[in-house]
Formats: sequence, C-alpha cells, structure tokens
Amino acid sequence: MVPRTITIILKTEAEIQQMQRAGGLAAEALREVVSAVRPGVHGTELDALAERFIRERGGTPSFKGYRGFPASICVSANDEVVHGIPNTRPLAPGSIVSIDLGAVLDGVHGDVAVTVPVGEIAPPLQRLLQVTREALYRGIEQVRSGKRLGDVGAAIQRYVEAAGLSVVRDFAGHGIGRALHEEPQIPNFGEPGTGTLLREGMTLAIEPMVNLGGYEVMMDDDGWTVRTRDGQPSAHFEHTVAVTATGPLILTAIPGGVV
Ligand code: MG
Repeated sequence: MVPRTITIILKTEAEIQQMQRAGGLAAEALREVVSAVRPGVHGTELDALAERFIRERGGTPSFKGYRGFPASICVSANDEVVHGIPNTRPLAPGSIVSIDLGAVLDGVHGDVAVTVPVGEIAPPLQRLLQVTREALYRGIEQVRSGKRLGDVGAAIQRYVEAAGLSVVRDFAGHGIGRALHEEPQIPNFGEPGTGTLLREGMTLAIEPMVNLGGYEVMMDDDGWTVRTRDGQPSAHFEHTVAVTATGPLILTAIPGGVV
C-alpha cells in the first residue's frame, strides 16, 4: 500500500494571532449559547442565538452550508455523539447536550465544543462530562513541537479507558486554519511515539468524543447525526490549539472559560 501524502499548512505568528481572534469569537458565542441551555429550550433557538452573535461581531458561522450542513451549530443530546442538526425538540431535564460551534473571522476558523448538563444530571453523566473534559486537556498537553500525533491520541485514550469509558474511533480531530478541516486527522486513540511529528506553526482542533458504553457509533438517516450504537450517552469537548515555541496555545480560550 502506498502511504497517503498529506500536506500540513504551517501558520505564521501573525496567522496564529488571527486565529486566536476567530477562536475567541467562537468561544464567546459558545458561552452565549451555553448560558441559554435549560430544560425546554430547543436547538433551533440556540442555533439562531449563535448565528446572530457571530454575525453581529463581523464573523460567519463556519458550519452553515459546510458540505450542506443546514445550521450554525451542532446540537447533540444524550446518545447523539456529534453533528446533530438543531431541531425543535425541547431539551429534557436530566439530559446532556453537546454544542459544537465554529466561527470564521478574517478568513480563518475557530472550532470549539462543550457538553453541558440540562438541569440536574445523574452522577454517571457528571462523570462522563468530567472525564471527557479532562481527556481534552490531557490531549492538549501533548500538542508540543517534537511530540507525535500518536502521543495526543494515546494520552486521551489511556485516560478515558482507565476511567472505564470508551473513545469513539470513527471520528477524529483535525488541522484547521483557512479551511475548517485541514490535514492532519487527529484520532483520539493511538500509540505514543507514532504518527506525524508535531511542529511549531501547526494549528489543530483536538476533540475527544467519549461514550459511557461501547465505542461503536452509527449514522442517522439524516446523513449527519452520529449516535452511539448501544444508545448510551456520549460527550464531546473541543479546543483549537496552536503548536508554539512555548508549548500548546489554546486559541479558543476566553477569560472565565466555557470549555
Ligand atoms: Mg472540529
């Protein structure tokens, strides 16, 4: 088999600063959406809120129209893993919901996601959210010049599996910049010391998807919504991160945080 050739676009310091502005806008929009999550609210309302927030600040929602995606955010509740299309079903108390949001500003993207409780949630769900969030930060810790993509995946996988949960195999993180999805793909599992070498100037979306049950997922008939095969809940956290001389720089971080 011939190895696939991939082209990773390295960014200048100025481009990384530009991406930090886009990432900041995405994170602020996500915070706005998260603050509106409560029982009875539905995804379509959250979507409208996100789109208005982004456009009022001179940005464009990254996802709207991307490969035909019909909305500005992905809203994935409970057993939905990622890419849920916002709908008018009210969010139920005791459930969890993942909001994934991308914004373009001055031609570059920021991509960020968080899973939050809808009202009070049961301890196993709280733990699912905690473990997935921590897995994201374990992965980000490896986003350093000289490390390899396998180090990122392994850090995520080991942490998640030690907690008795599973990482989704069929979807991965990705490079990001002038395009929402650039090379490389960033699996949330792997072997340390293997895969593409990380270099200063790479900008990567790290996004573990973690299931309470098994890691298998399936696609809904809508062609977008990914859900767990066993019907158990799933969580998703994401940051856009740059490899810099001084280590990982989270481009979607904002004061007070949302992820
Ligand atoms: Mg992403």
